[in-house]
Amino acid sequence: GLIFYVINIFIGTFVLVYATTIYTIMDRYTECMLRVQNEQLRIMALVDPLTRLSNRRAMGENLKLVSSGSQQSGKKYVIGLGDIDNFKKINDTYGHDYGDTVLSEVALILTEKIPENGYAARWGGEEFLFVIPESEVMDGFECAESIISSVRSHRFVKGKTEFFVTMTFGVCEGCPDDDVDKIISCADKRLYKGKNNGKNHTEYTD
Ligand code: GH3
Ligand code: MG
Ligand code: MG
Repeated sequence: GLIFYVINIFIGTFVLVYATTIYTIMDRYTECMLRVQNEQLRIMALVDPLTRLSNRRAMGENLKLVSSGSQQSGKKYVIGLGDIDNFKKINDTYGHDYGDTVLSEVALILTEKIPENGYAARWGGEEFLFVIPESEVMDGFECAESIISSVRSHRFVKGKTEFFVTMTFGVCEGCPDDDVDKIISCADKRLYKGKNNGKNHTEYTD
């Protein structure tokens, strides 16, 4: 009698401890997985999957930071809005998938040319936006021109065909008290002016 009683207690305790340990481990694991998934979701909400650049939403946050930084420092900032020239034609000629390749290669050039303290984003389909804090219109002009000349000289290869792509930028300077949206529209207006004015260059005046 007693021996079975002891064995029973022993096994019972063992099962209980075992189950609790497993449960605790599972619980920690689930918590850890949730944390990883949350982080992945957070990044997915901020990064454009094709180009790996910040998306428009993330850039909105960066622009808020730059604008409030400008109010604190009293220094100006510059915004550049760029758009690939005749991109519809590129898609029609080389296919939508190769159009995607062009977008990601242009994005790499952009990342390379933006100053350390600046931000770049995919603003729309084939539109890119950069912002450089503590800078003036000419810094934006130089940045845009360096992107344009790098894009212009980049050889795109699809099978046996080779081709080149160009890009147009509108650049506008923001003062500490300016509304960022106003500076974006200003850059957009200048981009539009550049499109009507031969493309493949930067406009920085109205
Ligand atoms: P412009 O020189 O005036 O800028 O002319 P455009 O042909 O570049 O401009 P338009 O706005 O007519 O065409 C933009 C095209 O970009 C239309 C759209 O199908 C294409 N596009 C937008 N997003 C993507 C994308 O993610 N991948 C690809 N492959 N094409 C895209
Ligand atoms: Mg275009
Ligand atoms: Mg466009």
